[in-house]
Amino acid sequence: MPFPVPKHFTSMEDAIITLFGSGIKITHTDRISGGDINDAYGLTLTDGTHIFMKSNSKENASFFTAEAMGLSAIAQTKAIGTPDIICTGTDEGRFGGSFLLMEFIESKGHISNYWETFAYQLAAMHKSPTEDFVDGGKYGFVCDNYIGARRQINTVNESWTAFFRDCRLKPQFKAAAAYFDSSDLKKILKLLDHIDNVLVEPEQPSLLHGDLWSGNFITGNDGKAWLIDPAVYVGHAEADIAMTELFGGFSQAFYAAYEETGLLQPEYSSRRDLYNLYHLLNHLNMFGRSYLSSVKRIVDKYAK
Ligand code: ADP
Repeated sequence: MPFPVPKHFTSMEDAIITLFGSGIKITHTDRISGGDINDAYGLTLTDGTHIFMKSNSKENASFFTAEAMGLSAIAQTKAIGTPDIICTGTDEGRFGGSFLLMEFIESKGHISNYWETFAYQLAAMHKSPTEDFVDGGKYGFVCDNYIGARRQINTVNESWTAFFRDCRLKPQFKAAAAYFDSSDLKKILKLLDHIDNVLVEPEQPSLLHGDLWSGNFITGNDGKAWLIDPAVYVGHAEADIAMTELFGGFSQAFYAAYEETGLLQPEYSSRRDLYNLYHLLNHLNMFGRSYLSSVKRIVDKYAK
């Protein structure tokens, strides 16, 4: 593997002793709210070290392997802050079955040009070399991962438009098939068949965060934005920017600064909704019908 894969332990106690020293135990466990999928905690150790833990059932241990791989990939670019991964693990006992330990990010407030710096650092990540993250093609990732709680297919492809059609839209449309009638299906097939009329091949492939909404960055102790909870893959940088626009919360200063970096190709805004169709379909498949009208509106827009 060209970038580091985190250590895996089969008990929390073993992980803490091996990584922090014999005699070290967890002295406090503080529940942290805000996550959609996992339980989150701040753990304090005997020596005062504060670490962050996510936990889930044993069956979902692969969520954490994938998340750790994604954070390691982002860290490898050295472009933007992201918590250091400590380890992944499984534990039959008190933490529900599987866990991920990482650096606890303590914010001490924003730097003054927070949004511009965020945009430039994200662009630097998008401009970083991607060869270590794909094998045998330009787009995809070395393993599948998760978007929310659903599997995200990352089979490597030479073409971005083919990758987006086959690994992003098609699996989501397939999973959502029960929501569509025959007239919808005709439009969906048309959209997929003519995707090259809408999407363009990137000038360069980029490592993407993959799930970049306002809940997936936090302010680090350097006062800058740090990325968390990624669904990384190599794709078109525009797909990350499109998602920041889907649920809002990013400042105009962020967009003005990102625009200067030249990573958005001409007519980006004509492609934005098609990128976001992937996330809306994923929400339809995870949370149900309330996302159907947004999905259908975008299908109508592009099935021409
Ligand atoms: P989920 O995987 O369930 O979506 P999140 O990654 O969103 O969980 O994290 C849950 C909560 O923990 C959020 O409030 C987030 O801001 C916070 N958080 C995530 N990572 C860290 C970290 N390394 N240090 C401190 N807080 C964190």
